Amino acid sequence: MRYAVLGTGIVGRTVAARLVSLGHEVVIGTRDPESTLTRAEYADWQAGQPEVRLATFPEAARYGEVLVNATGGQASIAALTEADSAHLDGKVLIDIANPLDFSQGFPPFLDPANTDSLGELIQRSFPGLRVVKTLNTMNCQIMVDPARVPGDHNVFLSGEDPDAKKTVRELLSSFGWTEASILDLGGIETARGTEMLLPVWLRLMGSLGHADFNFHIQGAHPAP
Ligand code: NAP
Repeated sequence: MRYAVLGTGIVGRTVAARLVSLGHEVVIGTRDPESTLTRAEYADWQAGQPEVRLATFPEAARYGEVLVNATGGQASIAALTEADSAHLDGKVLIDIANPLDFSQGFPPFLDPANTDSLGELIQRSFPGLRVVKTLNTMNCQIMVDPARVPGDHNVFLSGEDPDAKKTVRELLSSFGWTEASILDLGGIETARGTEMLLPVWLRLMGSLGHADFNFHIQGAHPAP
């Protein structure tokens, strides 16, 4: 499968590397490839991942059969606008971003929140996209390697399109998520709930002193 990972931060790099390890063809999207290559952290990573091609957001989006949104949550609409609707329409977008606003320092706050979510905002702004919100409630190392956290724990799905969710389930399964660990919460409106786990997640990280943990929903079996 041809994947476009939009975002060159730690999440984009981690997901892109995992996709390559699974045999997929991956392009990673950025605003300005030349400038991104001048960042030591990115350049070091790219040197170890020669199969991943760095491209502009529109080039990456045009290439990808499935897209991953790993851009900053406050920048996602700008990044997708730059990617161009013509390259988005009909495609599955795996939305990992959280709308965290760091403008007033740490801890960040969520915007939008409560009566809206980034997942919904993306789906409204780009109606041709088939948005599935997932993986946003854990550290990126766990997204692609759930066995890092011992025992049962969960990943959530939100989205309107059953076929898109099926595609995402298959990908999650290839990352190591079991069927039982994937909890489908319903439509994209349910992204409000998972995005609003972030203030809890951030306080847990502060209190535990590490990010190698995840949410486990006890009793998450189907209703009788
Ligand atoms: P990040 O620093 O939040 O975002 C980096 C990406 O955002 C870069 O590709 C950057 O483009 C793009 N970007 C920034 N400002 C932009 C603008 N004005 N217009 C267009 N694009 C812009 O990266 P991250 O830490 O890897 O996180 C990615 C997303 O995953 C975030 O939404 C975060 O909340 C979410 N998330 C992170 C974790 C985690 O483990 N860190 C876990 C769960 C969810 P350039 O490449 O051009 O610089």
